[in-house]
Amino acid sequence: MALRLDFLRDVLGVEGAKALSKAVDREPALGGALELRAIIGWVSCLDAHEGSIPGTSSQLRLSKSDETYSGSVGDYNFTGESVYHVSAAVANALELEPGKLDKTLRDTVLMRLGKSLDLLIKSQLSKKKTKSKKTAAPNARPVDAAKQQFGVAAKAEALGTGPANPPLPQEAPMAAVPPSVKQPSVKKPKIPSLPLTRSEAAAECPLCGGGFMGGNKFVGCVCFSELAKSIRTTAYSDGYVLDFGVDVDADDVRSLMAALKG
Ligand SMILES: [Zn+2]
Repeated sequence: MALRLDFLRDVLGVEGAKALSKAVDREPALGGALELRAIIGWVSCLDAHEGSIPGTSSQLRLSKSDETYSGSVGDYNFTGESVYHVSAAVANALELEPGKLDKTLRDTVLMRLGKSLDLLIKSQLSKKKTKSKKTAAPNARPVDAAKQQFGVAAKAEALGTGPANPPLPQEAPMAAVPPSVKQPSVKKPKIPSLPLTRSEAAAECPLCGGGFMGGNKFVGCVCFSELAKSIRTTAYSDGYVLDFGVDVDADDVRSLMAALKG
């Protein structure tokens, strides 16, 4: 079956989309399920969105409140719906083919791969946010500042066309995501260190099949390389202890544990 590669490259990154393709090559039954899982992961990471659904000409307008979503996909409008409802509408816009369900597909495999997908999606979204923050830097050229004012640069960013030209009409709707993201002031509790045996550390990523260690250091596969930047490894004779930086999300650590320990 053909994967929606334009969509997957946008939401998972180029390497992430490759990882997903590899997993599907190894186990073709995963195809439709993983794409749908990527859509759900993507929608659940969006607090607000205004722009095309990557790889399609369909527009997605979305705002989230109290865990429900309101907005539209193309000319279909919805109010107060669940992430699954919105994901189904996005799958429809992507013309995802209803595949055959495969009984050999195990829930645990789907769960582990799904967590890796979530991590890739989050790291793509945070890369995009960082890019739009850079655009909003005080030393930005005046023309950029003017574009910011109308939310055009941010909108172009959301459309995947980058902050540069061409200019869009000024009556374009304001971008749903403001360029500056407010940081919660609550201090997060420290995440406990994660001990790994040598054999756990030698595991392969269930999604991309890559290894996690480089010598005696956790470097991560494609899916976990972003997270690896915030991990400090201490090697012992019988294993490793991973310490997580303050910026690491507890959810991401759970994804890593699922990948390492199954
Ligand atoms: Zn991986």
